[in-house]
Amino acid sequence: MHNMTDTSSSASSNRIAIGNTEPEVKVKARGVHVFYGATEAIKGVDIDIYARSVTAFIGPSGCGKSTFLRCINRMNDTIPVCRVTGEILIDDENVYDPRVDPVVLRAKVGMVFQKPNPFPKSVFENVSYGLRLRGINNKTELAERVEKALRGAAIWDEVKDRLNDSALALSGGQMQRVCISRALATEPEILLFDEPTSALDPIATAKIEELITELRQRVTVLIVTHNMQQAARVSDFTAFMYLGELVEVDATSKIFTNPAKKATEDYITGRYG
Ligand code: ADP
Repeated sequence: MHNMTDTSSSASSNRIAIGNTEPEVKVKARGVHVFYGATEAIKGVDIDIYARSVTAFIGPSGCGKSTFLRCINRMNDTIPVCRVTGEILIDDENVYDPRVDPVVLRAKVGMVFQKPNPFPKSVFENVSYGLRLRGINNKTELAERVEKALRGAAIWDEVKDRLNDSALALSGGQMQRVCISRALATEPEILLFDEPTSALDPIATAKIEELITELRQRVTVLIVTHNMQQAARVSDFTAFMYLGELVEVDATSKIFTNPAKKATEDYITGRYG
């Protein structure tokens, strides 16, 4: 039984008490601002993301959803004009602390993009890439971990006889599941999905959605989606962003039936965006 304790839009608004246990907060954003040159794309976001849950980010195009996601694994570091201020804490450690190595961070926080982007290499090499990067070269260990990752992304049966074929020869949905396997191989604690199904057909989309639902038993999932039905299907929590601000975050069922803010209601009922 979920018991809402707070319905304001503060950082604690998606806090849900399950019995007497406080849910574990995996990611905490505090006062996050992101600038591209002089343009402020994220204007002070505070949010708590709960461990082993799926949080969907919705909102009109350009409101800062992808930018916010990229703060969590410091992918914004790769954009020269981009500057992030504020704190992103994972297990209470600020990922922007100069002692944090982005390569290690990105193994812990995997990312899957809109367009399936396998390397022009074999399925096996794609999935083992992150492991090799971390110095794992033992053949048996690599084979075991690649199989585990492919099974984890529900694609093992389809590719087990094609491990040495180019990943580019697969269908779009299969390529996306290989990309998810590549992210899973390093056993991440957090997975970021940036519109992972927008280039896929409905059947491939359904497979990815099913997979996300399974993954949340082990991993904390954040997903950006422009598809509100998808947010409603796969997420436990939904965050609505507008013009660089986090308008509201709450249990998905609450956001879609009884949002606290008019702007959220207008968006989910299709009045703008
Ligand atoms: P969303 O994911 O909600 O569509 P984005 O995070 O992609 O929004 O974009 C937020 C704002 O930041 C937009 O105004 C967009 O034009 C700008 N922006 C995103 N990426 C870049 C970039 N690499 N360089 C400059 N501006 C960017």
